[in-house]
Amino acid sequence: MALLARLRQPYQLATAAGGCFALAGLSDSQRDAQYISPNMAAALFLFSAVQLRVGWRNSQKWLLATNTCNAAVQAYNLRRHWKAKSQWTVSDRDAPPADSDGRARVRVVVLGSGWGAMSFLRSLSPSLAQGDAPFDVTLVSPRNYFLYTPLLAATASGSVEARSVVDPVRSHITDKGNYYEAECTDIDPERKVVTCRYPKAYRGAEGEKERVFQLSYDMLVVAVGSVVNTFGVPGVQENAFFLKTAEHARTLRQRVNEAFELASLPGTTAAERKKLLSFVVVGGGPTGVELAAELHDLVSDDMLRYFPKLSNDWAIRLVDTHDHILSMFDRQIATYATQQFRRNGIDLVLNCRVKAVEPDAVVVQLNGADVPSRVEYGTCIWTTGIAMHPLVQSLISKLPEAREHWKSLRCNPTLAVHGSGGTIYALGDAATVEQARVLQHAEELFKAGDSNSDGLLSCVEVMAVLKKAQKTYPQIAEFAHRMQCGPDAVDNMAQFMNQVLRAKSKVSYDNVIATADWISSDDDEESAAGDDGGQTDSTPAAGSMLTLQQFSQQLAAIDNSLRSLPATAQVAHQQGEYLARLFQNHVGRTPDSSRIGVPSDAPSFHYVHLGSLAYIGADKAVMELPYKNTPVSAFKGWLMGFAWKGAETFMQTSVKNMYLVSRDLMKTKVFGRDVSDV
Ligand SMILES: Cc1cc2nc3c(=O)[nH]c(=O)nc-3n(C[C@H](O)[C@H](O)[C@H](O)COP(=O)(O)OP(=O)(O)OC[C@H]3O[C@@H](n4cnc5c(N)ncnc54)[C@H](O)[C@@H]3O)c2cc1C
Repeated sequence: MALLARLRQPYQLATAAGGCFALAGLSDSQRDAQYISPNMAAALFLFSAVQLRVGWRNSQKWLLATNTCNAAVQAYNLRRHWKAKSQWTVSDRDAPPADSDGRARVRVVVLGSGWGAMSFLRSLSPSLAQGDAPFDVTLVSPRNYFLYTPLLAATASGSVEARSVVDPVRSHITDKGNYYEAECTDIDPERKVVTCRYPKAYRGAEGEKERVFQLSYDMLVVAVGSVVNTFGVPGVQENAFFLKTAEHARTLRQRVNEAFELASLPGTTAAERKKLLSFVVVGGGPTGVELAAELHDLVSDDMLRYFPKLSNDWAIRLVDTHDHILSMFDRQIATYATQQFRRNGIDLVLNCRVKAVEPDAVVVQLNGADVPSRVEYGTCIWTTGIAMHPLVQSLISKLPEAREHWKSLRCNPTLAVHGSGGTIYALGDAATVEQARVLQHAEELFKAGDSNSDGLLSCVEVMAVLKKAQKTYPQIAEFAHRMQCGPDAVDNMAQFMNQVLRAKSKVSYDNVIATADWISSDDDEESAAGDDGGQTDSTPAAGSMLTLQQFSQQLAAIDNSLRSLPATAQVAHQQGEYLARLFQNHVGRTPDSSRIGVPSDAPSFHYVHLGSLAYIGADKAVMELPYKNTPVSAFKGWLMGFAWKGAETFMQTSVKNMYLVSRDLMKTKVFGRDVSDV
């Protein structure tokens, strides 16, 4: 009997398995058809087919019953899957790939190959995007390389070669996903599909239908950057050069070489020579300043060596609205850079607004002048400001909740675009991150902190509550960090908070601004901090205890110190790293594979400003560290020039690029720049 029972066991096991598989299949049949794994369903169907044969031969009723059910359920699931598949997007990867557990992988489509996108891709661990890992990553960009923009001005002057500052996407994507060299032309947030078109060269002949393809996504990362802003100034688009892409830098480099060659021809008149060799840079922000500095180095170090007869004919002019250049830097640095430019012979046309860019002159209105003046040029380069990318514009028209800032998508603190239901994320210039306001939760925090329920917060209580809340509200981290309680520490918390506010570092980089006023002014930072040497302009706390009203006033002041983040590589890079971490740690399908998302308590993005560096020519640079009003806040001169070259070399994305940049900088110093027209 015992032997018989043992012989019967395999039937019982197979009977039980058939029943379990049938139940699992039933639960699968409730899910979205695209998440059914066809391989798993087919394998389970085959298993039951074999068991049916065994059960028939051995007259095992229960084995026959459970496996008939399982075979029917799996056949039904397979049919649903194949039927639905035929309706999915026209794409080369219709079906969501499945991991080894049969769960569909999260399809992540990344748009762009710049600072934000590549930082995201590089930070993503290969183990999460390879084989049957949770993510199926596809990157789409018309540019198959990453461009190190901080050295673009040096590329335009020939100090560094263009190939040294680009890094192919393919060298980073191989172990992480797919790359398509194409341009995304449309995002459909409803269907979760992006439409992309072939690169220019393969779009087909004139009049032929454009070649496009579509990709479905579960999560979309928009990192398409921004475009040049002409601020509607007439003639800019037609007559000016720009400096945003590698092509711009190459064109500019050729233009400078050409201008000197043409000026040296025997038939060129003196007036023509002066015009040809007159270079006007519009914009006194870091990009304009670095470009003017590089042009000056090129002319003084190399061109005049090759064209000594032209030494009195060239001019470099820089036009800006402020009374000094680099106005977003510390005043001491801005003054130094302005003096340095004047000493180097760069003409500064300051305190003026550009009215128009005519084919041979920039028309400027000087502050206080009645009539506009003309600044004649042979080459005009427009380096002021950025505008919204057309793709971002079209996405905003479909997601009105994402509109707030006129140059980018409104995102929550985890970088999710408003109105996208947590399926679209934005990085870099394409994103404006809304920072969580702590004031709205003042009462809640006050109650949580008031441990002895006396209606007042002591220093120790404030410190505890700030420390607890700093993860959600990064703007209070500095206060929490600096706060000390003890006999001689804080005796007036309102005063203490105001002091920290005053010392909070200034964060702003961007290229500014002949006609723009889109960058938030830092002048109001002072007013946010109060102007009474540390006393708040609201009611100061009388002593070491804060009432709810006083606590709220301090939180309001902290919120007021929030600035929208500057459009810089530093921000885009940190956002890319953050998003990769967020995806790795928090994104995934729910256990039943039905939903994807970031949990609401996921940590927010917190930007850490590491400082700003700008090259100002003749081997000198300026550096501003984020310790405002301290002896280590501003550095300038030769040593900084050396530091700038070192930083730009070591911040390259690969060892190969580090080698190439250092080689180019060395070669330029020893042999000079290559001025051939190739
Ligand atoms: C000359 C110059 C110098 C600068 N120097 C500094 C500096 O020293 N320090 C600093 O912090 N910042 C600097 N910046 C600013 C910095 O480069 C930008 O803030 C940063 O590049 C923004 O990163 P991003 O990823 O948003 O966009 P980008 O780096 O511009 O990348 C956008 C990507 O999207 C791709 N793309 C465009 N359209 C589409 C589409 N339709 N579909 C798919 N992909 C698309 C592009 O090909 C590109 O790969 C400089 C900028 C310039 C122009």
